[in-house]
Amino acid sequence: MTFQIFPPLEIPETLAAGPGPGNTDVRVLKAFAGAGFADHMQGDVLRGMIECKHMLRKIWGTRNAYTFAVAGTGWSALDTMFSAIMPGDKVVAFTNGTFSGIDALTLRIKAATPAEHAVRPLDPQAASVTVVEVPHGQPVTAELVEAALAEHKPKWAFMAHWETGSGRVNDLRGFSEACERHGAMGLIDAVSSLGVEDFAIDDYPGVAGWASCPQKGLCCLPLTYAPVSFADAYIEALKSTGAYTYVHNPIFEARHWGIVDGQDVEKGTYHRTHSGYAVAAFHESLRLTLQEGLAKRSMSYRTHEKVLRDAVTEMGCEVTSDMPSLIVLNLPSALSGREMELVQNCRARGFGIWPTLSEPVQVRIGILNQLNREAVSRIVRLFAEAIRELGGEVDQDAIEALLESRYGTSIAA
Ligand SMILES: *Cc1c(COP(=O)(O)O)cnc(C)c1O
Repeated sequence: MTFQIFPPLEIPETLAAGPGPGNTDVRVLKAFAGAGFADHMQGDVLRGMIECKHMLRKIWGTRNAYTFAVAGTGWSALDTMFSAIMPGDKVVAFTNGTFSGIDALTLRIKAATPAEHAVRPLDPQAASVTVVEVPHGQPVTAELVEAALAEHKPKWAFMAHWETGSGRVNDLRGFSEACERHGAMGLIDAVSSLGVEDFAIDDYPGVAGWASCPQKGLCCLPLTYAPVSFADAYIEALKSTGAYTYVHNPIFEARHWGIVDGQDVEKGTYHRTHSGYAVAAFHESLRLTLQEGLAKRSMSYRTHEKVLRDAVTEMGCEVTSDMPSLIVLNLPSALSGREMELVQNCRARGFGIWPTLSEPVQVRIGILNQLNREAVSRIVRLFAEAIRELGGEVDQDAIEALLESRYGTSIAA
């Protein structure tokens, strides 16, 4: 058999209208493509990383010295955040969907003893980890967190800020306050909220560790930089126990971003090879976020989410989510059970919406970086078309009237 080299890979332009990745901003793509080749110790690359660190602290509203970013995606930042969890550590994790479910798996992997790993290597049941499972579609509430932390008094507590699987906003304030009351170090998966919601880390003193991603609210490319931030309490705990990793140990990683012994130093030192292209893209996405302002951007998400929500409701769908960047919905009852078919039809046309990744099957439509009349109207029309294609009925005049009434006067395009 002879091996033939494949033709060059061409990937088409699609409309990313799911939970993430969002449509990378053109300014970010330009920064990525425009960067010259430079190694990871070149002066402008190092300066760019230091500037990113300062911009990130500003965007995330924190004085945490250990605020920087990890090469990769959301799971890279989360793995870094979970690195301080040692076998046998007492943890309480709250889950209410796909992503917090994987976070809880990671926590069990980190906290499991060697004997527990040996019993179920890919799904260790760590006795020291308590997982409080909240059903899909329901939020993690202050009362739930309070009760579980009061009972278990863990070293670490975990929750997703926004659970992207079910489109649910969890009670960050209640979580942070319960952590403070019970002396637990809070850890937050902020992968889908950073860059969308206007919130400041320093308003939540019960939370010791935060992790996010490049390609959702920050409009950067996946596999560039995933932000993390750690309070002093986290770093002290890590110092006293160490971590079973070199590359994802926050103390080691922070050095390349010019953070040593809790102090900013002028120049980063080698931790791993960083990419000048990725640094340039990430830098531009942070500039973009600061220029737009989080207050304005989060308002804009709320406004456009409401239009999309009302339009699909008009089509007979039932929206069950409360996340400003994503709606999760049930199809009209006549089409119930055909969610995957509808999603596949849309994806085949380059309209990238998503199903839920765990039960129950629902449809997810996101508006990351789609914050204008034209973009939201396009999503609404494409979705209406998909419903009609399955034999559902859509009153297009009513939909157009709704778009016109929302966008015609009050909201600028
Ligand atoms: C997207 C997401 C993740 C996973 O992030 P990747 O970038 O795919 O690694 C984890 N948690 C939440 C809440 C998410 O929305």
